[in-house]
Amino acid sequence: MPLFVSFQPEPWRDRAACTGTPPDMFFPEIRVTARTLDEYDEQVAAAKAVCDDCPVTADCLTSTLRYESGAGRYRHGIFGGLTPDERALLPAPEREVAPIRHGDRFGAQAHRNRGEVPCGACLDAEARYQKVWRDTRPDAADRRAQAAEVTRAWRQRQRDALYDDRTPTDPEDER
Ligand code: SF4
Ligand SMILES: [Zn+2]
Repeated sequence: MPLFVSFQPEPWRDRAACTGTPPDMFFPEIRVTARTLDEYDEQVAAAKAVCDDCPVTADCLTSTLRYESGAGRYRHGIFGGLTPDERALLPAPEREVAPIRHGDRFGAQAHRNRGEVPCGACLDAEARYQKVWRDTRPDAADRRAQAAEVTRAWRQRQRDALYDDRTPTDPEDER
């Protein structure tokens, strides 16, 4: 999963195809790595290719639309195989009106599903749960190692590209 501002502990995330991918790969609009429009398009295509192979695209899209329709939210990143602009054309999913148990680990999500900003007690409970979830899942170490390797390779490609840009053309090559 890319670093995910709208991250919520939902079971389907275990099957997300983007697990372990570099965070900035799914956020081309931040322009850290996509410096031209072509690079932006390439990065969008690369992220969408991951989503195309993902078994939980529908869950991801619904969750993202719900999150983004909440109070004080804005759209960002490639989620559910769509860019922020493409998601903006879709209607928000129905709000949930289930009662909220404040301070419960799923309370913050219940707030968002109602279009509210979560209260402090619910945000704290969610953060605690997410930390435990990340640190204690059986394959936590594997996932961290895999993510570190993918991220290292991604950063190296970015550095190589930057270096290529700055290397003057060897006149020998032009003959
Ligand atoms: S649809 Fe894309 S962003 Fe959503 S979980 Fe799957 S790969 Fe990740
Ligand atoms: Zn609450």
